[in-house]
Amino acid sequence: MHNPLWFDPALCLIGGSWVPAAGGGTLPLVNPSDGSEICRIARGGASEIDAAVQAAGAALDGKWGAMTALERGRILTRIGQLVLERAEDLAALEALDVGKPLSQARADALALARYCEFYGGAADKVTGETIPYLDGYTVYTLREPHGVTGHIVPWNYPMQIIGRSVGAALAMGNACVLKPAEEACLTALAFARIAIEAGLPAGALNVVPGLGAEAGAALAGHPGVQHISFTGSVRTGALVQQAAGANVVPVTLELGGKSPQLVFDDADLDAALPFLVNAGIQNAGQTCSASSRILVQRGVYDEVKRRMAAAYRQLTAGPATEDLRLGPLISARQKQIVEGFLDKGADLQLAAQGEIVSHAPPEGAYVRPTLFADVPPDHLLAQDEIFGPVQVLIPFSTEEDALRIANATDYGLVASVWTRDGGRQMRLAKKLRAGQVFVNNYGAGGGAELPFGGVGKSGHGREKGFEALYGFSQLKTVAAHHG
Ligand code: NAD
Repeated sequence: MHNPLWFDPALCLIGGSWVPAAGGGTLPLVNPSDGSEICRIARGGASEIDAAVQAAGAALDGKWGAMTALERGRILTRIGQLVLERAEDLAALEALDVGKPLSQARADALALARYCEFYGGAADKVTGETIPYLDGYTVYTLREPHGVTGHIVPWNYPMQIIGRSVGAALAMGNACVLKPAEEACLTALAFARIAIEAGLPAGALNVVPGLGAEAGAALAGHPGVQHISFTGSVRTGALVQQAAGANVVPVTLELGGKSPQLVFDDADLDAALPFLVNAGIQNAGQTCSASSRILVQRGVYDEVKRRMAAAYRQLTAGPATEDLRLGPLISARQKQIVEGFLDKGADLQLAAQGEIVSHAPPEGAYVRPTLFADVPPDHLLAQDEIFGPVQVLIPFSTEEDALRIANATDYGLVASVWTRDGGRQMRLAKKLRAGQVFVNNYGAGGGAELPFGGVGKSGHGREKGFEALYGFSQLKTVAAHHG
């Protein structure tokens, strides 16, 4: 395969310079489609994180900190334009690194561009307010950056997550230290190069690849960081929150879910079917907002089961470059996790499975997409986040049943309702425990405009939309007494 790497990947970006990790430490980056080593990446650790935090602080005291919101917005917009121009290069990198089918990687590159455009346009539109107060006072609020923000990013959607968190943080005038995942960091490095090309001042964005327990932990606990944005597992999110808590630093946690789709007897099944399946198998199910539970009312249960099973039998997984419906999982380790769940589903009714193409390299991290039926709502596979292409079908009788089952997990990221009954749409939109509820769709195209985040173990804080700009800033109240 053509090697899409157009830069030296074994470097960190610190204060505008590309530098190796101390002692030249590197880590292998593996191609999940065939298990081969793509390249080595820098193994950044505490000293690189410390240097990056210092560089970010210096940027705030220098050119970056002196820029107006308009100037910051223009740079972000320019980054977005360059990302658009390089979308094919970025998609090729992401497909290679994450194992994502090319068209899904392409969509992620376009989403990254869109975040930069959105936050570029929004940078100078965040305003404070004036507050009527006692006679003789004028009171107003200012939105100010936190300062140095840390961004710990996972491997499943590097470009999208960088766009929504770094994009919003830069728009508000923060200086960022980005720790991409050790499994997939090529587009983080490529994005940083594009940002510099677009005129982002030195130190406004620093990138330190490395292991979670080394670079990630050092960033989460660094006393020079004023805000942490984390996306990943519940276990690591709790560690990050603990580390940031020692410095009394706010965190945004986006920790995945067990998101349900509720299909009622009166639903438009032709419209629902593609969403029911795709929301479970997109990015091979390694999506925080994947819909892994399909709750179906008994009147249409058999039909939905039959049609979903037929769709599953058409699914194929293969190398990212072949652009099938599924690529491999990110790693042999993730494959082992997902297969462990499949073993635990041995007592369940297997409704259907897709295929792995016969020529898929045996060293690739492929699993067959799998649909289980008649799954008890308290079964492990209906409760735990699997992070693989596995969905469970759960029958229900009444609206009350559906709501109870939907809300009975530790998570609460997104949910969707398929029904033509307007009253039911409104009732459930209010009562579903989730940060986003979709009516007669799933995901709404993932728009940059739409605030996103969870409740319960799905995390807290919101990214995307204008909400993210509030999250990446703090409010100052000014009360002037003038008599
Ligand atoms: P993880 O949460 O451990 O890793 C996510 C990021 O956190 C990576 O950049 C990693 O280097 C970093 N990290 C790891 N340990 C850290 C620490 N102690 N301090 C600071 N940063 C640290 O996730 P994982 O091990 O790659 O995947 C395990 C499971 O997590 C998956 O099976 C899946 O269920 C879940 N996951 C969820 C998401 C999501 O989008 N919500 C993304 C990735 C993984």
